[in-house]
Amino acid sequence: MENINIEDIKKIMCIISDIIIENEKKLSELDGVIGDGDFGYTISKGFKAIKDKINKNDEDDTSKLMKSFGMIMMKNCGGASGPLWGTGFINVSDFTQGKEVFNLKDISGMIGSFIQGVKKIGKADLGDKTFLDALIPAYNSMKNDVEQGEVNIVRSINKASKEAEIGAEKTKEMVAKKGRATYLGDRSLGHVDAGAYAIALLFKEITDKLPSEN
Ligand code: ADP
Ligand code: MG
Repeated sequence: MENINIEDIKKIMCIISDIIIENEKKLSELDGVIGDGDFGYTISKGFKAIKDKINKNDEDDTSKLMKSFGMIMMKNCGGASGPLWGTGFINVSDFTQGKEVFNLKDISGMIGSFIQGVKKIGKADLGDKTFLDALIPAYNSMKNDVEQGEVNIVRSINKASKEAEIGAEKTKEMVAKKGRATYLGDRSLGHVDAGAYAIALLFKEITDKLPSEN
């Protein structure tokens, strides 16, 4: 697969939504260890609303769809997640303006703009024990693939998925520098960040569900 369109994007967003919703309890449990235990609930509520939007099938412009996802996340997710994921999607909306077909470079650019949005609002970076510790390595892997001339989307996401998993695992060795887990100080050590776990989970699910390469 070298190009995707809005219909593929909708499918991928449904895959992501389903795996997040299925893991609501697990994600809240993880947030409960070093946070306040609402992450699974709050992020699932957002993705349920995203699925509803997709099922309405009333949008054929990717940029507008991404904007609606941003507004949905801001409205439906409580806690830090609403503004973080909301601003992420709004940035993707700006990035995708006027685009209809997306190759690997575009997809990596979409993830990059999501990250920029999250950074803009949350001021976190690599090593702060947030979901960026899984998402940035996955993005870097895809960006690197693009630079190396890779065009195969599934192959690149597959690789990125492994980086997301490694990145999420590494959050166990980090002391939180952003978000509620900072209240714990050194006691956040040894526990995976719930957001990073969610990112690894959704990359793995996309890898498993996308048609494999021949
Ligand atoms: P809250 O702490 O307000 O309850 P959530 O439970 O909705 O927030 O989300 C917690 C997750 O948000 C964390 O696991 C972490 O991955 C992510 N997070 C928290 N603060 C930031 C930040 N400043 N930048 C990026 N991600 C963050
Ligand atoms: Mg929380």
